[in-house]
Amino acid sequence: MKPPTAKLAPWGVPVILGIPLDHNSSFLRGSAEAPALIRKAFDSGAWNKWAENRVDLGREGWFEDAGDLQDMEAPDVFGRIEVAVAKIVEEKKRPVSLGGDHSITYPILRALGKRIPGITLVHFDAHPDLYANYEENPHSHASPFARICEEKLVERLIQIGIRTLNAQQKGQAEKYGVEMFEMRNLPDLAKLDVAGPIYISFDLDVLEPGLAPGISHWEPGGLTTREALHYIQALPAPIVGADVVEFNPLRDRSGLTATVAAKILKELLGRMLAA
Ligand code: MN
Ligand code: MN
Repeated sequence: MKPPTAKLAPWGVPVILGIPLDHNSSFLRGSAEAPALIRKAFDSGAWNKWAENRVDLGREGWFEDAGDLQDMEAPDVFGRIEVAVAKIVEEKKRPVSLGGDHSITYPILRALGKRIPGITLVHFDAHPDLYANYEENPHSHASPFARICEEKLVERLIQIGIRTLNAQQKGQAEKYGVEMFEMRNLPDLAKLDVAGPIYISFDLDVLEPGLAPGISHWEPGGLTTREALHYIQALPAPIVGADVVEFNPLRDRSGLTATVAAKILKELLGRMLAA
């Protein structure tokens, strides 16, 4: 007998959008190859398509896939990402983007933040990504959350899993009122008083690198996959969008990280779809 399905949320259909951009990565390229490999792992016959909360993602029409954006090295790429995400939002759907390096979260939030007031951005990462201008590239993957705060695209920024905080980024976090929870002082989610609309940005390097080695910046001492899922599953509705970024297949010799990324995607979709 099949387990009962979850009650479905009344919000729009999630739409997967691949954004294979990795030229704003400061240390290694490779994450441009990620979207196709995450989809492949997601569709693997090795597991079923049920999220842990009993949402059956294999059912027709519960989410859509808009494919991958093209020509990621053309000069107008951030504008095109913003237009593509805006189209999804204006159709009353919810973007779920697959990176790519973390620089893509800035144009995604430009599209969302201009259309949905009062967003709480929940950001999982080993790094704050708050540099004002990293290596003279304001679009670096080390800077998207500085841009998002400068333009006031979200109401609150909550960062979870940080373990690389230096003086410069601490100053930025104070300047912008970032609610930062470092790895050494992990919060009970109930204490965060998170309220919707919520956007989730998930940098895979928040995880312990031994559990997901296919990333560009190994930073030991991270979340277990289970801890990350616990946070995702505990977030309240509505979740208006999400991204999964920084999977680097060039460092994923076993293929495990593609499966971890697909598991995160599965549980994000499951959480978004359940009431
Ligand atoms: Mn990041
Ligand atoms: Mn990171």
